[in-house]
Amino acid sequence: MPTVPDPDAAPTSRIAVLTSGGDAQGMNAAVRGAVRTALHLGAEVFAIYEGYQGMVDGGDGIRQVGWDDVGNVLHRGGTMIGTYRSKDFRERAGRLRAAANLVERGIDRLIVIGGDGSLSGLDLFRQEWPGLLAELADTGRIDQALADAHPALMIAGLVGSIDNDLVGTDMTIGADSALHRIVDAIDAIASTAASHQRSFVVEVMGRHCGYLALMSAIAGGCDYVLIPEHPPADGWEDRMCAELRRGRAAGRRDSIVIVAEGAQDREGRPITAAYVRDTIEQRLDEDTRVTILGHVQRGGRPSAFDRWASTWLGHAAAEEVLAATPESVAHVVGIRGNRIAKVPLMQAVERTREVPAAISRGDYAEAMRLRGGSFTEMTQVFAEMSEPPVPALAEGEAPRRVAILHAGGLAPGMNTAARAAVRLGIDRGHTMLGVRGGFPGLRDGQVEELTWGDVEGWTSIGGAELGIRRSVPDIEDLYAIGRSLEASRVDALLVVGGWNAYQGAHRLWEERDRYPAFRIPVVCVPASIDNNLPGSELAIGTDTALNAIVEAVDRIKQSASARRRCFVVETMGRYCGYLALMGGLASGAERVYLHEEGITLDDLQDDVRRLRSSFDAGRRLYLAIRNERASEQYTTDFLARLLDQEGQERYDVRQAVLGHLQQGGDPSPFDRVLATRLVAHAVDLLTEQLAAGGREAQLVGLVAGRVQATPMARMLELMDMAHRRPRDQWWLDLRPVVRAVSEPPPPVLAGPRAPSAGL
Ligand code: ADP
Repeated sequence: MPTVPDPDAAPTSRIAVLTSGGDAQGMNAAVRGAVRTALHLGAEVFAIYEGYQGMVDGGDGIRQVGWDDVGNVLHRGGTMIGTYRSKDFRERAGRLRAAANLVERGIDRLIVIGGDGSLSGLDLFRQEWPGLLAELADTGRIDQALADAHPALMIAGLVGSIDNDLVGTDMTIGADSALHRIVDAIDAIASTAASHQRSFVVEVMGRHCGYLALMSAIAGGCDYVLIPEHPPADGWEDRMCAELRRGRAAGRRDSIVIVAEGAQDREGRPITAAYVRDTIEQRLDEDTRVTILGHVQRGGRPSAFDRWASTWLGHAAAEEVLAATPESVAHVVGIRGNRIAKVPLMQAVERTREVPAAISRGDYAEAMRLRGGSFTEMTQVFAEMSEPPVPALAEGEAPRRVAILHAGGLAPGMNTAARAAVRLGIDRGHTMLGVRGGFPGLRDGQVEELTWGDVEGWTSIGGAELGIRRSVPDIEDLYAIGRSLEASRVDALLVVGGWNAYQGAHRLWEERDRYPAFRIPVVCVPASIDNNLPGSELAIGTDTALNAIVEAVDRIKQSASARRRCFVVETMGRYCGYLALMGGLASGAERVYLHEEGITLDDLQDDVRRLRSSFDAGRRLYLAIRNERASEQYTTDFLARLLDQEGQERYDVRQAVLGHLQQGGDPSPFDRVLATRLVAHAVDLLTEQLAAGGREAQLVGLVAGRVQATPMARMLELMDMAHRRPRDQWWLDLRPVVRAVSEPPPPVLAGPRAPSAGL
């Protein structure tokens, strides 16, 4: 490996990163991802402090950064390089100074993490760049040769905004963590509200975007929500109060209304939290309190999603900018349906700005259309779930009976799914039944009706109130299961669970020729922390488990602050490495061991060499994450002993098997929303089948961001049966990202490599 500068090498690319506008959790992960990837690709990297102001001021505001400068930041909220709303940068004179400060340092590639304001400023700067440099050369501030060497500014934008308001990407950096803060607050408020039978009005951020309000209302199991894009029709106060009253009558002990800060009525008059409180107090004579969450929503530790997704985004932005040529189109880099998506920068900004424009001219249908199909769908789902039912059946029509059953391992979010199923099923006129204790419970006839009020409060609790068993029905059980389905007059079955649940449903489906009772519509909904189910890229429970892993690893890392230590942490997942890889990405692991890749002796020798040299170079902490079945021979204990022995006193090694804490805990906001979304689709499928006299068995899941159904007949072909995991696993594409942000480049002064090479 060369260690001296190569005289023939192309000049090294110089790239700068800044954060601008409102801060958002996850910005640090994005900065780290961008800086490390750029270093990994051989670029020289600069951080610009205090947003655009640092670029205008120059001096210490623009500093070259190395690998370790962005270490130990993943768990921190805010932005380590500061942010600012720069007035100077809004003026051409300010941008002229900024251009001089960049070009004098040889920087002509720039990544900006900010909201739509910051990104439009970035685009303007890029357009002006040739003119600014010409002026700098004409006035003698820089040499003409320097201007000629940097004919264009190459840029990429990442959206940092807790509002999730950028059209064209699924999630902006910070939105998921903000949802965590809000839903934590709602859970806390719900328990005190229920004790006193009080009503609460909670105001959340979102001047033009109702995302946080709507999703937190769904995840928090709230009663009513007011968002800017979908103002309520005249007389909404009467309807809201009637709904709250009916909710109380149906068994609710609390009422919670969520108001987005930009909520308004159809005439554009603001609806404030205080107005909602006064309305409830006057009309319902209920003790009502207001909570305005404010800046709490921006604060605190970033969620697991904001860590891994922002790392991925930073990585993709660095690749994009380093591969760009002066002719390239500038992009915003986002994530859509678990894939990196690039949207032309100004198109993204303009479409985002169309939403407030549509709201202010009263074109709410357009505002909702711009927000996208799933936003509209979730608005509808929320209304159906929160409103106590009015009879949906025509006279003389008998309700159909739909049973819910859990099987497999426990996954947080199962209760959310059961609640959604009961409420949405009742809304469609069905009688909803709960099977207690999985397939054995079904065999033994443990089937009972669940009412709208029975599932009150289930949104937020971990575990499975209906009970869950791992067992798959045996051939001997089938007759008794058939009898039980007939005795309880079950017309359709909704199975929410893991691989054993899928296998059980598959067995009933296979045996339908022999048992008439099995000839009913069946839908499976994926719920497993392992994320190993067919027909869905994500299962309910995985996000909660990832958050548990990240929290545990944060503590483990902190425990070693005074030592030179290597940790080997084991995660669950059976043969599926999702938790290990994503947990590693989110918690800053140096090495991840997966069954999908296997472990060889050569790998271990490389790891030992890497550990030794990095601790010799001053490293204090090394984190390896191992999937529980990564290798039969090289167990967690073996790895820890090997690394310890071979470290020769450079560091000590500790191992931690995270175990069942990954399955416990209350479901994360993402898992609650996912559970609701998947179950809404499942209940629709069952309802269609029941109406049409069909008896299809199907699997619902999230594929490329959309909820879709897969016929049960395809289940086995989608699986690697030997390892009980899907054949196609999208997240394996993130392995190069782990390497790029965990392997420092060798100390060589070479030109930039092609961005896709060497990763
Ligand atoms: P956000 O990026 O969160 O939308 P702002 O709209 O306040 O936040 O923008 C952040 C900063 O980006 C501004 O303070 C300013 O420095 C810069 N900026 C925003 N819009 C422009 C613009 N049209 N021209 C130049 N700079 C801009």
